[in-house]
Parts: sequence; C-alpha cells; structure tokens
Amino acid sequence: MHHESNSFNPIVAGEKDFNVLREGEFFENFRKNDSLTGVVKTLMDAGYEVVPAVSCRAVPNGEVDYDFYQGIKKEIIEIAKRENAKKPLDAITLSLHGSMRVKGQGEAEGYLLEELRELFPDIPIFSSLDMHTTMTDRMHNNCDGFVCYKCAPHTDCYETGEHAARMTIHALEDGIKAKRAWVRVPFIVAGEQSATTVEPMNTLTNELRETEKKPGIMACSYMMGFPWADNEDSSIAVYVVAETQELADSEAVRLAEYLWSKKDEFGFETEAYHEKEALDVAFSSIQDGVWPVFLSDSGDNPTAGSSCDVTEFLKMIMEDERTAALKEPVAYGGFYDPQATKACEGKVGQEITLTFGAKFDTKTSTPITVKGTVKNYVKDWSAFGGAYKSDVAVFNTHNVDVIIAEQHIGYAGPQVFLDMGLNLAERQIVVCKLGYLGAEHEKFSKRGILVLTKGSTNEDLPTLPYKKVPRPLFPLDKDFAFDAKANLK
Ligand SMILES: [Zn+2]
Repeated sequence: MHHESNSFNPIVAGEKDFNVLREGEFFENFRKNDSLTGVVKTLMDAGYEVVPAVSCRAVPNGEVDYDFYQGIKKEIIEIAKRENAKKPLDAITLSLHGSMRVKGQGEAEGYLLEELRELFPDIPIFSSLDMHTTMTDRMHNNCDGFVCYKCAPHTDCYETGEHAARMTIHALEDGIKAKRAWVRVPFIVAGEQSATTVEPMNTLTNELRETEKKPGIMACSYMMGFPWADNEDSSIAVYVVAETQELADSEAVRLAEYLWSKKDEFGFETEAYHEKEALDVAFSSIQDGVWPVFLSDSGDNPTAGSSCDVTEFLKMIMEDERTAALKEPVAYGGFYDPQATKACEGKVGQEITLTFGAKFDTKTSTPITVKGTVKNYVKDWSAFGGAYKSDVAVFNTHNVDVIIAEQHIGYAGPQVFLDMGLNLAERQIVVCKLGYLGAEHEKFSKRGILVLTKGSTNEDLPTLPYKKVPRPLFPLDKDFAFDAKANLK
C-alpha cells in the first residue's frame, strides 16, 4: 500500500488515482525496482507459498479518501482471514510507504498493522517502507520490524523488499524473535536536501550499511519523514531491528546522535533561488550561450504530492519581457486541470480563450485567463507502462508552451514533453513542476536551477503554515537540545 500524502494539498486521492491489483493479478505485474516484487520473489525463491492480497499505489497527492482506504484495508484483512482458514499463515510480509495519510483519520499504515496484529498475534509481521516514512506509535507497536529504502532517489526498492523478506525468513527458520528500537529525531528536511548521492546523507547511509554488518543487527533505517504533511508525528527517526533489545537500543541511540550531529549540513545540491532571481540567472545564462536552462517549479511538485496547479511562477514568466524575445517558446510542464484540458480537445491549430490553473489549490494562486493557440492534443497519453492514462494538451500563449493534463501526472522524466512534440534540446528554457531534475532531464539540460516557488511542496519549510507538528522541531526551531536516549522507544 503506497501513497505519500501531502496535507497542504486540498485534493483528496481516491479510487481513480490508484492502480489497484487484486490477488493473483500481482503475479502478472512484477516490476523492476519495486519493493513488493522484492518481497514476493525472495519468498518464492526460498520455497515459500506466497498468498497475494492487494497492491495499491498512486502518484503522491493530497490525503487519501477515507472510504477508499477502509475498503482496501478490509480487502487485505478479509483475504488474510480467508486464506488463514484454509491453511494457517506462517508470516505476513508487507510493502508499505510509511507516510500515507487518510482524510479525517490520520495515519494509514498503523491502523492496517494494528488490525493484522490483532488477528495474528503470534506470527512474524515485517514490512519494507519508503525512506520518507513518518514513524508512529501504532506502526511501532504492531510490527516485528521495518526496513526503509536507503537510497534517494529510490533506486534500491527491490533490495529493500528482499531485505524485509529475509527478516521474515530469518524469524521463521532460525526461531528469532526480532527486537526493535525507534528514536524520534526532532527534525524535518525537504527531500531535495536529503539525496543520498551527496553529503551528509552519503556518509550517513554508509554508516547504516556498516552497522548492518554487525552480528545480531537485522536492519537499520534512517526514516527521513515527509515535511509536506502537518501532523503530530512529523519528524525524522532512526529505527533498528536486532536479535536482542540491548543491541537494537544502543545502535538506535548511536545512529540518532550521529544524525543529529549532521543536521546543519543539509542543504541544496544544485543552484536554488527564489523566483525573480532564478529568472535573472536563467536569462543571463542564455546570453552566455549556456542553455537549455531547466527550472524546477519546486513548490508545486506533483511527484511530492502538490496539486500541480499553482500559477504564480508561470504568470511571472509570461509577464517577463525577456520571454517574448526567446527564439523558441518556454516549455512548461505543466498543469493538472481536467476542464481546461478538455476545452482544448478538437481545437488543434485554433486560437481560443482559456482559463486554467488554481482549480484545486485555490489559496496559493489564482487562475489564468488568456488567449492562445492549441498546438497539440493527445488522447489517453499513457505513463508508467500504461498504469496511468490522461488526455494532454499543449497550449501556447505569451511565447510559452504550457502542458495541461486531465490527470494528476508527474514530470519526473521528459517523456511527456517529447510525446507532445516539444523538442527540449531546442528550447532555451524548460520548466518542470518537480524538485531535482532526473537523469533523463539532465541529458538535455546545460544548467539546472531549483526555483523556490510557492505551493504544497514549498521547499522553504519555515514559511509553511504548520499547526500540528510537535515542537521544538528543527529547522522551525533552533538552538534546542536533543537527548537521543530520552526519545528511545
Ligand atoms: Zn520517498
């Protein structure tokens, strides 16, 4: 069950947003770099009979619809009960995200684990998690052990699923009763500052790997939390699974102190500026002949759960005189606006007046109403191997080609631009609603700038309207002491 839920985004993610695979369907849908595939294949390779329940996942978005979540949870529970009645289950191994939130309820994973634990008090329950997990008491109390992805970008999902399965096998075959320790570290950080390819995460992750080599240690994780959710549990955490409680506790405390000692070293890995300065840098880079310049409209990043409809930065680009002088239009991907997309259907080549943007997040910006030409329209554009389908339009106005989509699609790769006929190599400026550029973008880009824009994934965390997060919390609060032992659970 995978979803990263952004509580600042008013969209509620439901049935139509999720790709749900039921029971045996999963066996036809093994994926590369997927934790559930890692869980299932590892157990099967070890000779276990795997009974699949449900797999559901969606692009990050706002919180998840209560009825949809309850329905999925019920399906998982019913399948577990039914199968257990046929032949008792030996263990449960899950692949969860760890920062899924349900509208009107709060945490998602904890309640699922609690029900499973109640039904199956005596068998091992292990789970893989995303690195951006927000740990809760309910999760901690109802699972034998978690292990998180160690890499951001998440390139080790399969290995993490494999790791969770190996813990299950260890518990079953060696009679190990795993012990766990959790230390909350009062600190939040944007995903863009915690890439494991750079410092300080590179060093921290190596420390995890070294610690896992120690005898008796089953798994160590830095749970980096999810800063774009305002909830009582928000924070980073250290989590250790070991064969003895003493070992789990001492390593968790040590790793938490080590993480805290590095907290001031987290920063942006690329150039990062607020809107106006970013445009000045981009245009002067073009004058110097260094382009395409890729700009990330990072405050409204749909792949981190933003609404993907904040208009502020686009308005600034449209109003800038230097935009009109560019030899090729700015490529801007893009906006989530079903009505505006449909308004372009059948109008390729025509000039129309279109209103778009600020459909969902009505607080951060206002819609744009403008004359322009529909340049392209693709019906049922598909992404992620056909898991998502969306009509997509290209609307040209003020020398900007704006991508407008019927669904909440992401811009983590350049595919949508290319499929819509925008040759990125010829564009001087390309804007993506994204955090850091992906490797595929970097093939086109001569310079990448993270623009600190407004929206539900605003990277400037102290400016967000947090109400529920526990204080003190770095970097909202500074100069307070942290006692790892006092935070040990
Ligand atoms: Zn993540």
